[in-house]
Amino acid sequence: MANALREKILAEMTALQTVDCHSHTTAKEEYYKMGPRSLFDLGSYFDREIESVTGKERSELYGECGSEQEKWERLKAVLDKAKNVSYWRHNVIAFQELFDLQDEDLTDENWQAVNDRIKERTADPGWYDYVTWEKCNLRTQVRNMAWFEEWDPQYFTAVLRMEPALELWRGETRSKLEEHLDCTITDLASCTQALGELAEEYQRRGAVGIKLAHAYSRTLHSEPVEKARAAMILDRAMRGEEPTPAEIKHLQDYIIFFLADLCSDTGLIFDIHTGVQTNWGDIPGSNPLLLLPLIHSHRSTRFNLYHAGYPYSREMGMLGKHYPNVWLNMAWMYVITMEGSRQTLSEWIDLVPGYRLLGFGSDVLWPELIYSHLLMARSCLADVLVEKVQRDFLSEGAAVELARMMLHDNAVAFYGL
Ligand SMILES: [Zn+2]
Repeated sequence: MANALREKILAEMTALQTVDCHSHTTAKEEYYKMGPRSLFDLGSYFDREIESVTGKERSELYGECGSEQEKWERLKAVLDKAKNVSYWRHNVIAFQELFDLQDEDLTDENWQAVNDRIKERTADPGWYDYVTWEKCNLRTQVRNMAWFEEWDPQYFTAVLRMEPALELWRGETRSKLEEHLDCTITDLASCTQALGELAEEYQRRGAVGIKLAHAYSRTLHSEPVEKARAAMILDRAMRGEEPTPAEIKHLQDYIIFFLADLCSDTGLIFDIHTGVQTNWGDIPGSNPLLLLPLIHSHRSTRFNLYHAGYPYSREMGMLGKHYPNVWLNMAWMYVITMEGSRQTLSEWIDLVPGYRLLGFGSDVLWPELIYSHLLMARSCLADVLVEKVQRDFLSEGAAVELARMMLHDNAVAFYGL
């Protein structure tokens, strides 16, 4: 019975056009311009483990090699220490499902054949679309766009990155914005006006939200700051005085609150990175509960919190429960930890109204890795939903419906697709 239900839910999900709720995918033109991929550069987050194990970035590690055989020896040495992590399994699934790897993992005997197939297939002009549309069956990818970056709406729905807005006390950041908008920033008022105009321009062109990933560089905690204080800090910086760390935080907090106001006024969604980062990242500063002053004071702003806030997923579940303006986004999660994903989803389904759960965000550079991530996501979702039916009194009908909502319907309604 459990198996039949799992198969039914999996079939349901496979037939769906998934909305990818967080994407960094390389555009098609760029993908082919870079030339065919190989086993040594069709990767994703396992690069961080390569760095963790060897102290070297992937490009540095392989850059020292004279042959692919040597590259394989180096990769094998890393795998001996770290092939257990989900970040690696993410790659193995892509090798198995798209490049005909028959074995459980790479070996001395099979790596060359996989490498050859990767080179051959990624050079095929139809491959990118085949993986994106046929294999992944995506409806759209909600993609992060850097300031002034262009996108193809056939593939992507834009969300505008806003970290530069937190750096406007620096002359070079201001100049780029002034040049783009053909305006002059003289003080805080003209600075926020310029940000408003930039957001408006992107919204007019189809962007659905803005995003901050400031957790990579500072605490998520922000508090209301008096306009006069923020204006004074910016004025002094514009006259060439270096602001102190406390002043920078105050100015940034002011801008973050301004951006939340802007979202409330325009209907743009406010996406925020929370939780897991990268090697040496500050873990406690990424706790989504630190966002409470912002979320609490902006009830008509829709917040889209990423990465399940992991490891603060339970905290994020309570945010979703108590704050109707918070959507919970599973972007990146299944490749971070499948077991953590299952536990998280199992609790959230008990806690949070289902329409605010966004079940998939690929967060990778290559379509091939979207596909393997999606397979991991479907597998976790099926496991959890079957368990909810078997143990936690969720009806079978509600379980099937939740699968559809989390991979498609919720995102369509939320982003207004
Ligand atoms: Zn991302």
